[in-house]
Amino acid sequence: MTRPAHLVLARKYRPLKFSEVVEQATAVRALQNAALEDRIGSAYLFFGPRGVGKTTIARILARRINCTNPQKGEPCNECESCKSIIDGRSLDVIEIDAASNRRIEDVRELRENVKFQPMNSKRKVYIIDEVHMLTTESFNALLKTLEEPPEHAAFVLATTELNKVPETILSRCQVFTFRKVPLHRVQEYMAHICKTEKIEAENDALFWIARKGDGSVRDSLSFLEQAISFCGNNVTAEKVRELAGVYPLELFLKLTELLMDPQTPSQELASPVMEIFDQGGDLNRFIWDYLDHLRILRYIRSGVEDSDFLGIPGSQIQNIKSRALNFDPARISLIFDEIHGLLTTAFFLKLRNSYESRILIEMELLKIHDRLKKPSVSALLSKIQKLSVSLAGQDSRRSEDLMADLTEDASQSATQQPGAGAGPAASNFRSPTAPGTRPGGSQGPSSAHSTDPNANQRNSGPAGAQNSGNDSQKSGQSDSIPIEDELQKQFLGTMVDPDSVPHEPDE
Ligand SMILES: [Zn+2]
Repeated sequence: MTRPAHLVLARKYRPLKFSEVVEQATAVRALQNAALEDRIGSAYLFFGPRGVGKTTIARILARRINCTNPQKGEPCNECESCKSIIDGRSLDVIEIDAASNRRIEDVRELRENVKFQPMNSKRKVYIIDEVHMLTTESFNALLKTLEEPPEHAAFVLATTELNKVPETILSRCQVFTFRKVPLHRVQEYMAHICKTEKIEAENDALFWIARKGDGSVRDSLSFLEQAISFCGNNVTAEKVRELAGVYPLELFLKLTELLMDPQTPSQELASPVMEIFDQGGDLNRFIWDYLDHLRILRYIRSGVEDSDFLGIPGSQIQNIKSRALNFDPARISLIFDEIHGLLTTAFFLKLRNSYESRILIEMELLKIHDRLKKPSVSALLSKIQKLSVSLAGQDSRRSEDLMADLTEDASQSATQQPGAGAGPAASNFRSPTAPGTRPGGSQGPSSAHSTDPNANQRNSGPAGAQNSGNDSQKSGQSDSIPIEDELQKQFLGTMVDPDSVPHEPDE
C-alpha cells in the first residue's frame, strides 16, 4: 500500500485569506482591523491547542503586511510578495520552530539577523512556533529584541502552553487566544469539502471525522483523507466509526441492559466483553469508552440532547433515548462507580495481557449484576411511603397489594446472595422510580383502585403514565416530600443494607 496522501486535503484547503479561516473570529477581526488602519503591532502571541490555525493566521498576516496590492483586510495572494511567501521562498518571512532551535545561540543569531533591513518587503516577519520550548536564557535574549524591536520587524509567537511563557514576554505581546473549533462547525466544514470534492458522505460519518479531529480542522481534514482512501467515494458512518476505532453503540447498550436485567444468565453477561476479546480489541479502551457511555446515558436520562456536549451524533441520542427509559439513573451511577473502581484496581495490578483484563472485567460484571438484583433503598422507601399513604387513605385493597409487594422484595433481597442465580418475580426488581412518578402515588382511594402496582412499575417513565395520573403526579410529588423525609429519618438506619430488611421465612 502506498503512503496515505493525507496531507493533500489539509494542504489544498489551508486558508489563504482571513475570511477562509473556520472560527477564531476574535483574532481574525482584530488583525484585519489593525491591517486596515495600518497599525499592525510589532509582537503578537497566539495561544491555543494544536491545529486550530495559529500558524495559518500568522502566515496570512505576514502576507497582508507585505502585500503590494492588499484587498481591504486581506492579502491579494497574487502579487510577487504574496506568491513568494505562499511558496515559502521569501527571505523576509522567517519561520522558526522553537522546539528544535531553543538554544541561546539560535536566539543570538536571530537578534543579529533582525537588525538588517528586509530584502524586498516592507517588514520582516518572524513566526516562532512552540515558543514555550525556548530555554530561560533564550527567552531573556528574545526579550531584549521584543523590548526594542526595529520598525521593520514584526514577531508572531505561537504556543500551546501559555503558562510556560514568561510574564515578561507576555507583557510585550498582544495575546490572542485560539479555541478548539466546535464539533458541529467542523462537521459543516467537512460537508462543504465533500461537496466540493464530489464525495458522498453520511452525516454521522462526518460527525465521527470531526470528533476524531478533536476541534482541529487540519486534523479532521487529514482523517477525512484517510476515510476517503478507506471507503472510496461513498463515506459511510459504519466504516468511519470502525476506522476511528469507536465501538458500536449497540455493544454498550446491550451491556447495560444485561446488567440491569436480574434474569441475565452469568455467561451471557460476559458476551460484550468476549466480543471485544475475540476480536483482539483493547479492553482497557473498551472500559473507558463504556464509562463515557454511562456518562452519556446519565445525561440523556436528565434530558440533555446536545450532540457537541455529549460527543455523539444526534441520531444516536434518539436511539439511546428510546432505550434508556428503563434505566434508573441511580443504577447507572452505581455501575459507573464500580467500573471506575475496576480501572483503579487494574492500574495498580499492572496487567500483562488482555486475558488478565478479561478476568477482572468479567468478575466485576458478575458482582455488579448481583448488586443490581437487590432492590435499592430508594425503591423500598418509595414502597413504604405509598403503603403509609394508602393506609392513611383507608384503601385496604391497595395497602394489601403494596404490603405483599414489599414483603416479597424484602425476602428477595435476603435470598439474593451472590451465586444464588436469578431469582423469581423479576418484575419486582425493576428500576425504582422517583417518588410520586407513578400514577396515583399518593392519591388515596379515588385513583389508586384502578391500577396494579406491578403494572405501574413496568411503565416507569413519564411516557408510561396514564393520562388520568398526570395532574395527580405533580401534586403527589409535592405532598410526598415531607413523608419521604420522615421515613428516611425513621428507617434509613435499618435499611442501608437491604439484607437487614426483616423478611418472612421461606420455608
Ligand atoms: Zn499580494
